[in-house]
Amino acid sequence: MIDLDHVSKVYEKGQRAIDSVTLHVDKGEFVFIVGESGSGKSTLIRLLLKELEPTKGTLTVNGKVLNTLRHRQIPNYRRGVGVVFQDFRLLNDRNVYENVAFAQHVIERPNHEIKRRVPETLKLVGLAEKYRSRPSELSGGEQQRVAVARAIVNKPDILLADEPTGNLDPRNSYDIMKLLEEINNQGTTVLVVTHNRELVDKFNKRVITMKRGVIAHDVEEGGYIEA
Ligand code: ADP
Ligand code: MG
Repeated sequence: MIDLDHVSKVYEKGQRAIDSVTLHVDKGEFVFIVGESGSGKSTLIRLLLKELEPTKGTLTVNGKVLNTLRHRQIPNYRRGVGVVFQDFRLLNDRNVYENVAFAQHVIERPNHEIKRRVPETLKLVGLAEKYRSRPSELSGGEQQRVAVARAIVNKPDILLADEPTGNLDPRNSYDIMKLLEEINNQGTTVLVVTHNRELVDKFNKRVITMKRGVIAHDVEEGGYIEA
């Protein structure tokens, strides 16, 4: 599902963010990526979104070699990869329904499908009743649920989340992580970057620890190791 073969990313000013990382994630896995600030976690996510090009090495995602993907093939590739960020990134002048429907409009789904799929997805994230609310009328936890709904409404094979609970209190953080787990249980491969050790310890998942651009630890089924 996700394969990195000796991938390095050196930023223009010479900052080596990822240093010869080799990594395999199977279809259907749930993986936490932890590590201190600046260890390369977000760079890894951005490489997987093809927002960044690797300096060296090969990335293969969903059967596609990202290195050789043509510009015009990128939108199609990204349809298969949902993404959630710490700061939600919702459209504040649109309501909940429109925020989620927008992702379907972008990929030109027919209206009858949007009308079925958006409420179904809002129900899954527990926001069926709030479909007419604006993001500003929702709690942080609810806003992140909208962002998760938007990320999965097109049924991606992979869901990437970069510190999705970074702005949430412990209760909402736990609920969001449970939601990501449920999405994983339905077959989506999930990668979650987080700083929240307490939360990682509550979920018995594979934990990859990044340290200065390399994988310092890769532990199956639970166990956060201090980098
Ligand atoms: P993390 O998400 O683990 O905090 P990042 O992937 O954001 O780490 O950053 C890894 C390293 O790359 C850091 O040293 C950071 O300063 C550097 N870096 C990140 N983005 C850029 C950029 N756009 N230009 C130059 N250096 C960057
Ligand atoms: Mg980061």
